[in-house]
Amino acid sequence: MNKGRSWVEINFEQIKKNYLIYKQLLPESLPIMAVVKADAYGHGDVRVASFLQSLGVIDFAVSNVDEAIRLRQAGIEGQILILGYTPLTYMEYLLDYDITQAILSSEYAELIKEYPVKAQFAIDTGMNRIGLDGDDIAGCERTIRAYLKTFQLTGIFSHLCAADNPLEKDFTEKQIAKFEAVSDSIKDLHLPYIHILNSAGGLSCQASGNMVRLGIIMYGLKPDLDFVLPNGIKQALTWKSVVSMVKKIHVGETIGYGRSYTANREMTVATIPTGYADGFSRTLSNHGYVLIGNQKAQIVGRVCMDQMMVDVSAVPNVKMGDEVILMDSHYTADDMARTIGTIGYEVICGISKRVPRFYI
Ligand SMILES: *Cc1c(COP(=O)(O)O)cnc(C)c1O
Repeated sequence: MNKGRSWVEINFEQIKKNYLIYKQLLPESLPIMAVVKADAYGHGDVRVASFLQSLGVIDFAVSNVDEAIRLRQAGIEGQILILGYTPLTYMEYLLDYDITQAILSSEYAELIKEYPVKAQFAIDTGMNRIGLDGDDIAGCERTIRAYLKTFQLTGIFSHLCAADNPLEKDFTEKQIAKFEAVSDSIKDLHLPYIHILNSAGGLSCQASGNMVRLGIIMYGLKPDLDFVLPNGIKQALTWKSVVSMVKKIHVGETIGYGRSYTANREMTVATIPTGYADGFSRTLSNHGYVLIGNQKAQIVGRVCMDQMMVDVSAVPNVKMGDEVILMDSHYTADDMARTIGTIGYEVICGISKRVPRFYI
């Protein structure tokens, strides 16, 4: 399936498998809130959320109001929770589109208090990002109760910051204990959404709250590069490009900007029309590889803005138009992340908007 210059194929069957395998491993059959922020981690939020809705998912989380409105306009009907900051000037939209806002702090609650939006208080249990101070349980309780008539309060949530690391188990358990103390203090309110677990937490922790926020594992990537994914969970995204030109290079010639690669043998080099403006990390210059006809082809020279060159000396019969795999379920975004010193999340979120997504 040749889709042009540089494109992504997303396998919905694999997302479904990932979701079902994960769901079945959850303690006490906790329901899942699908985290589709950042354009569903680069997979396309409208398409992914609509697909998940067809599987029965009714709760969604996003990072900002633009994402939330886009999903609502595309026909997502259930809860849409914004996990982060929304400026005051957008509050009318939250009301118009029935969107739930995270309340980041008492100060933020005061800022938006003229708008009776659906809201959930964030509780900071140790990440020190957003939320009421979870070390002060009475303070959390007081603040939550103070805004019962101000907002339509639908819940509270917190976020685990090291649930992907078994060595941090004690810290994670403390986070959960703090959160449960806060939720116990407002039990009489019967708020419907109480949640702290993320992808990693859902698999490595006791059941807590009444919902799991599932992000990275749904897309088939690891919360941490050393995390072992359950059997059958695989990357659903394949990034492809093509060979745009093939040429011979002689000993002593150099390749690309800055002449960072010198041929020490006769080489066959292929040019590929994908570069860092597509989100293909320039850190992979002289470092990473792509797959052509199932064989590795090393990147030679610097990755350019829109193109890169690879060594195909050992790959037989490479020609213009041949399909190239930049990443797939075998050579994953996590593998690539390890090479460049980041996490798979950043690699998939970084695939540019100019790279079209196709759904198979
Ligand atoms: C991104 C995010 C998640 C999802 O995390 P994963 O590790 O991708 O499962 C859950 N909750 C919050 C608050 C987040 O910001």
